[in-house]
Amino acid sequence: MRFTLYWDHRSPPGLQLPVQRAIEGILGVDGALLGTDRLMLTGFDLVRRQYNAEVLLSRLDAVRRRRGGCNPLLLVIPDDIFVQREEFVYGLAHPGFGTAIVSTARLTNEFYGRRPCEDDLVDRIAKEGAHEIGHLLGLPHCPDRECVMFAPHSFDELDRKRKMVCPACTARLRIGA
Ligand SMILES: [Zn+2]
Ligand SMILES: [Zn+2]
Repeated sequence: MRFTLYWDHRSPPGLQLPVQRAIEGILGVDGALLGTDRLMLTGFDLVRRQYNAEVLLSRLDAVRRRRGGCNPLLLVIPDDIFVQREEFVYGLAHPGFGTAIVSTARLTNEFYGRRPCEDDLVDRIAKEGAHEIGHLLGLPHCPDRECVMFAPHSFDELDRKRKMVCPACTARLRIGA
């Protein structure tokens, strides 16, 4: 089993490989990069000026099926995304579809008025990406604040997570593998 990383052509350039490697390191699962074909995004909400993450995930399911893949597919886009009843989400997974999405919109230092840092951005995309792929592999949320499967409620909580899966979640992954 491998995960596939689908990097939107507008997402931060040059970070695909570092993010792929970091996710591989966190989950202990190999990844592959999808080519540069452009995905027509759907689900833009004109009032919120954000994409509906659930609509995007069902759109992504069609891509995954077309490619004959049964592997988890993670899309990384620069656009802000939301789900109903939430102001925004960093990412979302749909285990039924085997698809997941991460938005880089709120993962940059710039968004919070801090000095840009590519390493910080790679770390956050990797943690969020590994978290969503973790859901696709059957992992629920974890109470361990340092575990990638912890659900952060703030930017600081996201940064406090480490690039690792805790022993309990690792054991679950092994059972599921
Ligand atoms: Zn989650
Ligand atoms: Zn855990």
